[in-house]
Amino acid sequence: MKRRTLVLSTGNRNKVEEIKDILKHLPVDVLSKDELGLKDIDVDEDGETLEENAIKKAKSIKNKVDGMVMADDTGLFVDYLKGEPGIKSARYSDPDANDEKNIEKLLSKLEGVPLEKRTAIFRTVIALITEKGDVITVTGECKGYIGFEKKGHSGFGYDPIFIVDGYGKTFAELGNDIKNNISHRAKALEKMRNVITDIIKDGRNEDNSCQ
Ligand code: IMP
Repeated sequence: MKRRTLVLSTGNRNKVEEIKDILKHLPVDVLSKDELGLKDIDVDEDGETLEENAIKKAKSIKNKVDGMVMADDTGLFVDYLKGEPGIKSARYSDPDANDEKNIEKLLSKLEGVPLEKRTAIFRTVIALITEKGDVITVTGECKGYIGFEKKGHSGFGYDPIFIVDGYGKTFAELGNDIKNNISHRAKALEKMRNVITDIIKDGRNEDNSCQ
């Protein structure tokens, strides 16, 4: 079976390692855009949905790549705040947003709100563009609650305040080994691994036009 190339449209090293690990048994060479010298291609994540942003990120490098391209976009949706920070999770506390300030803003918006009303969901959309240009998307979700204060030290982003349903602990307390088995991104990646496995199995979407 001919090996295929999959390029990840992300500069985030943690994501690259996680994706390489999950796809390691497939006949696919996984490369990050940095490894291909495409580091400087940046995308304005100005879509109205995670799906739009994920597809936009993947498309941004597609014409520079010989192979499949994959990109993801994630948001934290808090029910009490009608889905905030959602699509704006990374830049919630703009102008100079960072994890610390985003958490601060979210906790202050939920001040006085009891635990049962602090339900939230992490959602990840992954977009794949095949060699022939077909676009396929999958979604992964993880339910939980927003805590009253930060707990735990691992992970990134909103991990210290996201209490995972059924675990009673934040992602930051659970640690990456557990998180990477149950997270929104892990679930989406699992689905995408099945999609890629099927594509490879039946030779579908392979672009043989130049051979
Ligand atoms: P991105 O689309 O993966 O860049 O995610 C957008 C923002 O969502 C990030 O800047 C983080 O603040 C947050 N985020 C994404 N994934 C996670 C996660 O697994 N844990 C905590 N926060 C996350």
